Amino acid sequence: MSELVTILGATGSIGRSALDVLRRHDERFQVYGLSAHHQTKELASLANQCGAQVVSVRSGQVQAFQNSTHIDGAAITVLEGSEGLVRLAGSTTADVVITAIVGSIGLMPTLAAIRAGKKVLLANKEPLVMMGPEIIQEASNSGATIMPLDSEHNAVLQCLDIGQTSNDSKGIKSDTPKSVVKIILTASGGPFIDSSISDLSRVTPAQAANHPNWSMGKKISIDSATMMNKGLELIEACALFSVDPNLIEIVVHPQSIVHSLVEYADGSVIAQMANPDMRIPIATALGHPERIASGASRLRIGEIGSLDFREPDENRFPCLRLARQAAEVGGTAPTILNAANEIAVELFCKELIQFNEISKYVDKTLEHVTVDRTRDFETVTQADVEARRYTKQLIRSSTISI
Ligand code: NAD
Ligand code: MG
Repeated sequence: MSELVTILGATGSIGRSALDVLRRHDERFQVYGLSAHHQTKELASLANQCGAQVVSVRSGQVQAFQNSTHIDGAAITVLEGSEGLVRLAGSTTADVVITAIVGSIGLMPTLAAIRAGKKVLLANKEPLVMMGPEIIQEASNSGATIMPLDSEHNAVLQCLDIGQTSNDSKGIKSDTPKSVVKIILTASGGPFIDSSISDLSRVTPAQAANHPNWSMGKKISIDSATMMNKGLELIEACALFSVDPNLIEIVVHPQSIVHSLVEYADGSVIAQMANPDMRIPIATALGHPERIASGASRLRIGEIGSLDFREPDENRFPCLRLARQAAEVGGTAPTILNAANEIAVELFCKELIQFNEISKYVDKTLEHVTVDRTRDFETVTQADVEARRYTKQLIRSSTISI
């Protein structure tokens, strides 16, 4: 029997890559549910193409969805708003849920899918940043299987599978073996890898969103340019692999061929390599522990020539340092960091602040908003709201001079 799959954020970069992989394996997987926010027409067209049974649209978009779909509206159940998203995520019918929404808004649906005990393929990184250890705990309570889609964490999981003596099909485990001495996450360095601090003050949103190796949504592309993306990934890794931040190293690797590495007590370092194409981690997670085709082009080692690695520069990319600090502080600090960053990126995209002010507003917000040690849903949501309010107020009053 086919495995039924739901994709939250189906119209985005990850959502479309996931649909592409699923189409290649229609004997094994069938799409059950899809969601989207602004792109109601595109969602209707995707739902028609893949025969989705349920969709969730933005509040007030049910009629627009029904007008856009060419098949009998009654064949597709249409849910709406955040309630609809949570119902779709937690529906007992689907076997697999892919979380591909962008931002902290994905927290509630992610929790709903985990609590429903699904196999959950996590791309939406912000919920893991906010409540990572709690999400892992919820998965262990409900029996949900977590598979990370972020290419670095997916690579680490593959390196752990190989480095460990026993191998089972259960994604993330509750503890990483003591023989792991280091987890090394690679970073491309983004489009401004060699830019000076003064160059960085003149960067436009279009330049920042133009990633040299990966084709991704706008928010994550800008986070890659500031290297906040790697900072968020460091926090994600601490939660997924139950390790302290000091066990995680970041290394800049401009070619994006080595996706991450794990170093063991005997001195062995195991790396995962592939072309930069998100269909690869998606296929790895969908098929696990089996390997299934992804559609990505093959890696031709001989043509690559050489692979470069270098230390990250936290002076030019202070978001990395801020994220490490937030990971060390713990509690709601990562939520405050993430919320301030979401606001600063949004306002940079509207050209209301400069590129290198993003880190300054995040820094000021982290200094100001009180960190709570408790990390339940209410506390985290409150910290998220408070940090957003403070960052907006700071930007409005433009108290920062560069
Ligand atoms: P995207 O912007 O291309 O797509 C986002 C999706 O979320 C769209 O379907 C959109 O309709 C939906 N969405 C946006 N706002 C929403 C809201 N308020 N409520 C409900 N749905 C909403 O983003 P993406 O690049 O596909 O990234 C998705 C997530 O995956 C992010 O958290 C990102 O950090 C993570 N991720 C992406 C990549 C990548 O290669 N794109 C790699 C690793 C991790
Ligand atoms: Mg990544």
